Amino acid sequence: MRIGLFGGTFNPIHLGHLKTIGEVRDAFSLDQVVLIPAAIPPHKPARDMAGTEDRMAMVRLAAAGRQGLAACDVEIQREGVSYSIDTVDHFQRTQAPETELFFIVGVDAFLEIDTWKAHDKLLERLPFIVMTRPDAGRLDLDGQHEALGVFLHDRLSGGYRYDPARKAFVHNRKQPLYVLEVTPVDISSTRIRDRIRKGRPISDLVPGSVHDYIHQRGLYQ
Ligand code: ATP
Repeated sequence: MRIGLFGGTFNPIHLGHLKTIGEVRDAFSLDQVVLIPAAIPPHKPARDMAGTEDRMAMVRLAAAGRQGLAACDVEIQREGVSYSIDTVDHFQRTQAPETELFFIVGVDAFLEIDTWKAHDKLLERLPFIVMTRPDAGRLDLDGQHEALGVFLHDRLSGGYRYDPARKAFVHNRKQPLYVLEVTPVDISSTRIRDRIRKGRPISDLVPGSVHDYIHQRGLYQ
């Protein structure tokens, strides 16, 4: 089994998450991608944050009936601040030893990884798949790639080098960090919350079931 772990605030989950994750799944022949909403995300302000139950419910609705997608509430059950290292610990303890785990993250989130708890250990534990994201840090695709290289070298370790054959940054003591150029989907949760506040439609931005849930619960008004 090859499993991708995909954490996020999912406030709310949207088609940007789902379309890009589908491409990652295909490109890396993953059997499953597990969506893991953070309880209290360390890097996001609490303002505008829907409750953990609502974010989890929306992730469950989005995963339902989608092949190769699962929702996991391990961070929500743990409570307190959600750290990826604890989640990876959990999966490495509970999965069969032959399971291959990958950590999936957008480039904007990855470029802050030097602020994550035990990030050095995390990068030794499992391979990362970093997805490009339109306009991340106002950079085009080449710029995102270059920013990653500079960031890895300057902020994480001088030992990283890019291997074009593997399309990955490699390191002799850390797991590879694959970079995947995904079809750009210019959607963010921030934009969705903003549109709801302004009374604009969001039906093209989230799955139908999530759209209905947001309206039934009156979220982000
Ligand atoms: P917000 O706008 O509230 O900051 P967000 O849209 O970035 O939220 P998150 O739940 O914080 O959503 O994202 C979880 C992960 O998904 C992050 O690694 C992020 O980089 C990635 N991601 C989110 N949207 C996209 C997208 N459109 N394309 C590629 N990656 C994305």
